[in-house]
Amino acid sequence: MSGHPSELPAVPGVTDVLHVPGEAAQRAAGAEWVDRYSHAIMATYGTPQRALVRGEGAYVWDADGQRYLDLLGGIATNVLGHAHPTLVGAVSAQLSTLGHVSNFFASPPQVALAERLLELLHAPQGSRVFLSNSGAEANEGAFKVARRTGRPRVLALEGAFHGRTMGALALTHKPDYREPFEPLPGGVEHLPFGDLGALEAALDGEVAALFVEVIQGEAGVRPLPEGYLAAARELTTSVGALLVVDEVQTGVGRTGGWFAHTRHGVVPDVVTLAKGLGGGIPIGATVTLGERTSGLLVAGQHGTTFGGNPVATAAALATLHVIERDDLLANVREVGHRLAAGAPSAGAPLVTSVDGEGLLLGLRLARPRAKELAAAALEAGFIVNAVTSDTVRLAPPLVLSADQADSFLAALPQLVQIAELAEEP
Ligand SMILES: *Cc1c(COP(=O)(O)O)cnc(C)c1O
Repeated sequence: MSGHPSELPAVPGVTDVLHVPGEAAQRAAGAEWVDRYSHAIMATYGTPQRALVRGEGAYVWDADGQRYLDLLGGIATNVLGHAHPTLVGAVSAQLSTLGHVSNFFASPPQVALAERLLELLHAPQGSRVFLSNSGAEANEGAFKVARRTGRPRVLALEGAFHGRTMGALALTHKPDYREPFEPLPGGVEHLPFGDLGALEAALDGEVAALFVEVIQGEAGVRPLPEGYLAAARELTTSVGALLVVDEVQTGVGRTGGWFAHTRHGVVPDVVTLAKGLGGGIPIGATVTLGERTSGLLVAGQHGTTFGGNPVATAAALATLHVIERDDLLANVREVGHRLAAGAPSAGAPLVTSVDGEGLLLGLRLARPRAKELAAAALEAGFIVNAVTSDTVRLAPPLVLSADQADSFLAALPQLVQIAELAEEP
């Protein structure tokens, strides 16, 4: 079904701008797309620097034909890279068979995906999956589960990012994101990051849940201190509060295991997933582990029209299948280690260390030059992300090869030089 663009029925704005290799495809220049963007798209993301028209594996091409090594992967999302044939095949086959049904009906990929997620999570008897369309929605679901305990308090951590819808935003910490939209749903308190004493002091029988990320992605690739998660599990259990682990960014192979929490030996009450799950097709999941938690939301208390959509769930099944078939978890560990080990010497003196796990890495800078380094990288054909002023985030496709990682490390000394020379911000 993934026909050559010239064989596809014409759709203005789609088939007429596809950039096909070896073919003088009709396309507008990047500057023109960016100009049209700023007159039609709401200004919530600022002005984009490039218009991207095509991708293949770990590479993308812009509207001017420039190629980039995509070390951000749609923000930890395109885990199989771009235009992966197995993903394209599964989505095309499902869309040409049954594209959408209401939640009054079951569909095979929806059921198979839920079963597969429970299997990968080694979920105990009685566990269940609620399927949605994004990370924020996955956390909204978890928030509603927490409310159903009947307890008024919900804990999250300073630096937390759980999404931008009003409930997820209440769990998110960053004042710039929250304050313009207050009042937010009440009862949420943010505790100092990684501080077990503060957690212990905050926990009582009024606490419904603690929300945590194993590695805070948006806060700058900040892993929880070793031992925190296991202790948080014990402490929440002791007061009957739920432990909700937000694996929207860290899940689905990103850190070199299927899920980041597994290595810490904990069984959460709720795990939320999105980003990488669909390999680039929107999908989210709220997984409740065990009978008691799974019984908290009952018929009529939650829903979404698109959740469990056959095409999105087929995409997720294809993504999980390829990760297993091609042993991408081993690749994540190997290539991640290569980048983490090589970046401080290649990026010296600006890059001082690397944090994170697998292929979710934060390059720490000696000075707040992340924007300048990311801009230099883009000019040189590498997409990276200035996640904070002094941290550059890498979250590439899990198919990134050692050679591709090396090409970035080889370019890094010069990128650092350019970033160092850039004018003081
Ligand atoms: C990106 C992210 C979210 C929000 O996901 P959206 O799909 O953007 O709604 C939530 N939690 C974490 C940890 C994330 O990284």
